[in-house]
Amino acid sequence: MIVRTRFAPSPTGLLHIGNARAALFNFLYARHHGGEFLLRIEDTDRERSTQQAVDVIFDGLKWMGITPDEEPVFQSTRQDRHTEVALELLAKGQAYRCYCTPEELKEMREQAMKEGRPPRYNGMWRDRDPSEAPEGAPYAVRIRAPREGETVIHDLVQGEVRVANAELDDMIILRSDGTPTYQHAVVVDDHDMNITHVIRGDDHLTNTFRQLMIYRAMGWDQPLFGHLPLIHGPDGAKLSKRHGAQSVVEFRDEGYLPEALCNYLLRLGWGHGDAEILSRDEQIRLFDLDGVGRSPSRMDYAKLLHINGVWMREADDERLTDDVMARLAGQEGVVTDAGVRARVLQLMPGLKERARTLVELSESAAFLGRQVPLTFDDKATKLLTPEARTMLGELARDLAAVEPFSAEEIDRALRQFAEKHELKLGKVAQPLRAAMTGTTTSPGIDVTLAALGRDEVLARIGSVLQG
Ligand code: GLU
Repeated sequence: MIVRTRFAPSPTGLLHIGNARAALFNFLYARHHGGEFLLRIEDTDRERSTQQAVDVIFDGLKWMGITPDEEPVFQSTRQDRHTEVALELLAKGQAYRCYCTPEELKEMREQAMKEGRPPRYNGMWRDRDPSEAPEGAPYAVRIRAPREGETVIHDLVQGEVRVANAELDDMIILRSDGTPTYQHAVVVDDHDMNITHVIRGDDHLTNTFRQLMIYRAMGWDQPLFGHLPLIHGPDGAKLSKRHGAQSVVEFRDEGYLPEALCNYLLRLGWGHGDAEILSRDEQIRLFDLDGVGRSPSRMDYAKLLHINGVWMREADDERLTDDVMARLAGQEGVVTDAGVRARVLQLMPGLKERARTLVELSESAAFLGRQVPLTFDDKATKLLTPEARTMLGELARDLAAVEPFSAEEIDRALRQFAEKHELKLGKVAQPLRAAMTGTTTSPGIDVTLAALGRDEVLARIGSVLQG
C-alpha cells in the first residue's frame, strides 16, 4: 500500500497556523512513509471561496516548502461525481428521499429541544413509501444511518474513540437544490483520490463518525484517521487575534523564516526526545503520528522567536540580504541600490547575530542605506559631545590613510588611535558608531566601517562635524 495523505483546506481567506500544521503533518507523514501528499481545495461554498483565498493557500504552502505530488483537486469541479454516488446510494437503498418541508424540520428541532434531546432528524421519511410524497415536491437525499451498535475509530493520535450509533442521525448527502453536502463530498473525494490516511484537526472528529457511514454504505475501504489536537493561545484559550499572529502570511510579514515556523509548528504537539532544531530531512526521517500528543498545544510566541533566531543565524547571507532589501525598498530615506545591497551583504554575518526576525534584521540594516545628514536618536545625540566631535575629526585623518580599508586594518587603526590619545577603545568606538548609524547599536565597529566603505565613513564623520 502506498501511503497517500491530503490537505483539504476551505479557501475562506487565510491559512491559519492550525491548518498549516495539519498540512505539514500530512506532508511529513507521506514523505516519512515514502508515500504521496495531495492537496484538495474544498471550494464548494462558492460564495465564500475566492481566487484570492485560493492563492493565499498556494502561496502559503509554497513558502513553507510543502508541495503536493499531484495537481490540486478542486472540490467544486467534482459535483457530478458526488451526485452520482448519492444516486448510487439511493439505488442500493442505503439512502432515501426525504420530503420534509423546512417547517416540519423546524418543528422537529423544537420538539426535540422541548424534550431535552439533541435536535436530530427523526427518520420521518426513512421507511415511508416515496409514493406518499406530494407530487413534484423537492426532496433531499439522506443516508440511512445504522441505529444499533456503535461506531469505533482506531485513531492514530487519539486512540480508540467510539460513539453509539443512536447518536447519529440520517444526515443529508444531497440537498434539495441538488448540491452535495460537505460530509458527502469529502468522503467521495477521499475515496476517489485513494487517500489512505486522513490527518486533520480534532474538531473534525464528529464529522468522521458521520463520514464513516458513507464509506460503509458504499462498501468502500476506510482510510485510517489521525485527529490532531488544536493549537491554543498561551493562556490556554482558543487562539485569537489578541494572542498575536495566527495566519501564515502574518508570520511571514512579521519576519519569520518558513523553516523556523515549520520547525516550531512541528515541535508544537510533536516530540522526539530533546530534538529542538530539525532540518526538513530530519523532520521527514523522524516524524510519525505516535509522537503527537493528545492534548491541545499552547502557542508560545517567545519560543518561536527563539527558534527563528537560530534559523536566521543558519540562513544564507544572500537570501537574508534579498529579504532585507525587499523590506527596505520604498522606506523613506533609505536607498536600496546595488551599492547599498553590497554593504548589507558584507555586514550580514554581524547583523544576523543580533536579530531575531527579518523585521529586526532590516531595521538594523537600514542605516546602511541612509544618506547624510543622518538623524540621531537620543542616546546617539548624547554621545556626540563637542569633545567627541573633535576626536572624530582627528580620527577621520587616520581612517583616510587605512590601507586596505578592511575590518582588520580598521581595527588596528582604531586601537592605535585609542592608545595614542590614552582613551579606552569604547570611548572611540561609541561616538564613531553613533556617527555611522545614528544609533548606539550595530555589529562590531570595524566590520561596520568596512561595510560602509571609506568614502561613506568619511562623509558621515564630515556631516557630524558640520552638524
Ligand atoms: N475543509 C476542511 C477544513 O478546512 C477540512 C476537511 C478535512 O480535512 O477533511 O476544515
